[in-house]
Amino acid sequence: MPRFYLTTAIDYANGDPHLGHALEKIGADAICRFHRQLGDEVWFLIGMDEHGQKVAQTAEKAGVEPQAFVDGVAARFVATWESLGISNDQFIRTSSPVHHARVRELLERIFTRSPDDFYERSYTGLYCVGCESFKQPADIVDGKCALHTTRTLQEITERNWFFRLSAYTSKLKAHLAAHPEFLEPESRRNEILALLDSGLEDISASRARFAWGVPFPRPLSDGEMQTTYVWFDALPNYWTAQFFPGSGATWPASVHVVGKDITRFHTVIWPAMLMSAGLPLPERVWGHGFISLGGERFSKSAGVKLELGDAVSRFGADAFRYYLLRDIPFDGDGSFSWERFEAVYTSELANGLGNLASRTTAMIEKYCSGVVPAGARGDLDAADLADYAEARAALGGAKGFPVHLALEAIVRTVTRANQFIQDTKPWVLAKDPADRAELERVLASLARRLARQAVYLAPFMPRKAEELWRALGGPGTAGSTLFDTADRMDCTGWTVNKGEGLFPRPEPPAAK
Ligand SMILES: [Zn+2]
Repeated sequence: MPRFYLTTAIDYANGDPHLGHALEKIGADAICRFHRQLGDEVWFLIGMDEHGQKVAQTAEKAGVEPQAFVDGVAARFVATWESLGISNDQFIRTSSPVHHARVRELLERIFTRSPDDFYERSYTGLYCVGCESFKQPADIVDGKCALHTTRTLQEITERNWFFRLSAYTSKLKAHLAAHPEFLEPESRRNEILALLDSGLEDISASRARFAWGVPFPRPLSDGEMQTTYVWFDALPNYWTAQFFPGSGATWPASVHVVGKDITRFHTVIWPAMLMSAGLPLPERVWGHGFISLGGERFSKSAGVKLELGDAVSRFGADAFRYYLLRDIPFDGDGSFSWERFEAVYTSELANGLGNLASRTTAMIEKYCSGVVPAGARGDLDAADLADYAEARAALGGAKGFPVHLALEAIVRTVTRANQFIQDTKPWVLAKDPADRAELERVLASLARRLARQAVYLAPFMPRKAEELWRALGGPGTAGSTLFDTADRMDCTGWTVNKGEGLFPRPEPPAAK
């Protein structure tokens, strides 16, 4: 069985989950569910990045110990992912003792295998607490960090452990050249190639003055113990995950799904650390874009607010998942809009899939006593299968992970099936006994297409797919049906049950 180990970024425990976090987890969840239905052995890791100065400061402001603070944040993230149906196999937290021990082991490995890579140096620079990093002139606009324009940069001088990142420039270039799939989409790859062309600076690997983190394994020459720089502690989570009891993670990861703002850390610092430690590199990194609201990026520091709970409760978690993956390209940037959300829900879910399901099950109940008749395949099945092949290519990794293109292909099968009803007019066929065979062929075809749609939509709308599956009387569950099985689906003899509508039409706003 092919192994598929996917990780998302671990979320920074400095605030509550927002739409940007949700897009990444929902997209990654669809990819993992998709691979399970391909028959792959999947391990899906998400979690929390809980260390760093910013977390310590926020906890202090709130008047609690950092550990108590991050415990509370982690609980809220976990509850959010459960409500959204995220099917992660493991939730890692960097404050856990297993992670601490293994990060120190990884750093020791670097000391042992590449003794020149860590060295002591005194450094003065402008530090952004938002990024947890010193900023180079190119990253500073009007005296502020380009990513955190509301924060003040701090001039900091300290003696630290440094990592000889500069020694890896040509090795990283060579890796990117030999493995074009290592970093996608191409826009992200071009950014990193340009960065490598400009040369890499060594970076600090430890911090003085604050203790909320993983103690760096070796003291400075004057005996001072420091704390591991937050990125040197956070990035290894993908590797330390395998050492937790019960974990099925295996290194190297198949793909890291991360935002475009941290692609650099995952394709430069992280692979350099791994090379230095003599460990294999992740196979792929997928850098998705940002979701905005009215052009503003979602983030705590930018102050753009849309309560995630409001968006989820509008039409339910599955409709929210569907809208995000349908409207926000997973290889670029997109914008959340309530108007678009309502329009997509009404046209594609209520009028599209929901209507197709209710009409089909109602006709099978009315004309065939609720039992799906036998019917040969027609050309329209072949057209659907071509779309499903595209969906597989989009989510299976053949062309990166443009999740939205998979959904686009599946939507075409729904449109085609509704058109098929209009063209064949089963209610007219039902009036003439001479058309009985044709009527049964049409209804069997519709049942078969809906069953395939349930299976292929299960990665996107896991709960609604099961509702549809139950309405069709399918065996087992849609989400545990392999795509190979769905492609050969024959629903003859299934007993349908029209039940409630899948997607109730939205109520018009109440008059005041
Ligand atoms: Zn910053």
